[in-house]
Amino acid sequence: MKHNDPLIRDLEAIVGQGNVLYDKVSLSHYEYDASLFKARPRAIAFATSTEQVSGLVKYANEHSIPYVARGSGTNLSGGSIQKDGLIIEMRRMDRILDIDVQNKTALVEPGVFNLTLQNALAPYGYYYAPDPASQKVSTLGGNVGENSGGPKCLKYGVTSNHILGLEVVLPNGQVTWLGGSAADAPGADVLGLFVGSEGTLGVVTRILVRIMRLPENVITMLTIFNSIEEAGQAVSDIISEGIIPVSLEIMDNLTIQAVEDSMNAGFPRDAEAVLIIELDGIAEGQEEQADRILELCSKNNVVSSSRATDDKARANLWAGRKGAFGAIARLRPCYLVCDATVPRVNLPKALSAVKEISRKYDLPIANVFHAGDGNLHPLILFDERDREELSRVHKAGSEIMRACADLGGTISGEHGIGAEKMKEMTFIFSDQDLEVMRGIKKAVDPKNLCNPGKMLPQAA
Ligand SMILES: Cc1cc2nc3c(=O)[nH]c(=O)nc-3n(C[C@H](O)[C@H](O)[C@H](O)COP(=O)(O)OP(=O)(O)OC[C@H]3O[C@@H](n4cnc5c(N)ncnc54)[C@H](O)[C@@H]3O)c2cc1C
Repeated sequence: MKHNDPLIRDLEAIVGQGNVLYDKVSLSHYEYDASLFKARPRAIAFATSTEQVSGLVKYANEHSIPYVARGSGTNLSGGSIQKDGLIIEMRRMDRILDIDVQNKTALVEPGVFNLTLQNALAPYGYYYAPDPASQKVSTLGGNVGENSGGPKCLKYGVTSNHILGLEVVLPNGQVTWLGGSAADAPGADVLGLFVGSEGTLGVVTRILVRIMRLPENVITMLTIFNSIEEAGQAVSDIISEGIIPVSLEIMDNLTIQAVEDSMNAGFPRDAEAVLIIELDGIAEGQEEQADRILELCSKNNVVSSSRATDDKARANLWAGRKGAFGAIARLRPCYLVCDATVPRVNLPKALSAVKEISRKYDLPIANVFHAGDGNLHPLILFDERDREELSRVHKAGSEIMRACADLGGTISGEHGIGAEKMKEMTFIFSDQDLEVMRGIKKAVDPKNLCNPGKMLPQAA
């Protein structure tokens, strides 16, 4: 039966009946992501092909409807919601189209979950390096949108270092390929411009990724510290020594308690901070590196250290680390995940600043983060029903961004700007810098319909 609302009728004509949601309950499911922001869309259309995405974008253009591509909606910055707009749901475009071990590439659709790709590559002895803690559910399209990072990104780089090519539907509906499998493409790096553009420049419909051989050997160590600052200093010392482990991840006591209550991962409950250190690569020389790392930890008063003795123990530690955000949700009804980066040498100062802000605003803050990248994630715990507390949370979050910017850092390591941190963009960019970015957006999306109101603050 045809729908009364012409919008729904037209969308169904593009993606097929049964592939458009518009009832109140469905709209309410799509009005939020993993941030504190909410915005109710007008409709959700499930695309299954590039042609359909192009059809939706052209339709939105003709009717001046704002739209946003959405993966799993796990982003932490309000990036995949759109008030009164069209949600282009990408999760049904979930095929792994090719795994080419000889050329070390895989071609995927954007709705493939990060972990699904890892699982498909493992039997070939390969993997895809960026491993956000959300990898069980976050899509590769979302990872490209946010330029996601993860524990392994210290050594191998974030998403942008592993994307070789993208098929994109531009805001005029045209389909184009950016990049490709040949190295060192001539001309401007338009591919680089798209990765991390938070869905504001077009909709990604195919992704060519770099894949890597699984390492010959892995050593995973758990070190315990009396203070988070000492753990942070150890991280800085290890990198200064010229050793690049694959992961250096810190969790503080509040996080450890929540993780142990939630899943018994094997972290000591009385530790003020733990630092997980993982080395990977060829076995030769690794033991010497591990010994040197432990010496540097001793210099920073490490309390104890141990090793994951087998794959099960290693998987348990990582399950604890990757489940930390979920575990923290047990502590209070809500939390705000801050995401900022500082030069590693300033990690101890940044952590002290977070403690000070926690005291100043009387808010508990848990810390679990990619320490090797200098990428902090203070999690501010609160109850959003308490409006006064909520207003303190926003102030504390902004102040943490300011402190990190003042320490030579930046206001996002991996979670993007979205709707959440547009104001804070001025902490790191001048008016002129922002004007350049607005000019690019305008050139690609002159009608400002592609995920508007994200990332770029309006001109004063
Ligand atoms: C518990 C938890 C742990 C997390 N851990 C990490 C972590 O370790 N590292 C990390 O970096 N992030 C982490 N995140 C944040 C989040 O998972 C990532 O940002 C992820 O990449 C979002 O993927 P998604 O599929 O949910 O995308 P969405 O949230 O749906 O979208 C994210 C952005 O990408 C755009 N987008 C999505 N698909 C497309 C497409 N096909 N074309 C163009 N644009 C598109 C959207 O418009 C939006 O701007 C975590 C989140 C949670 C809830």
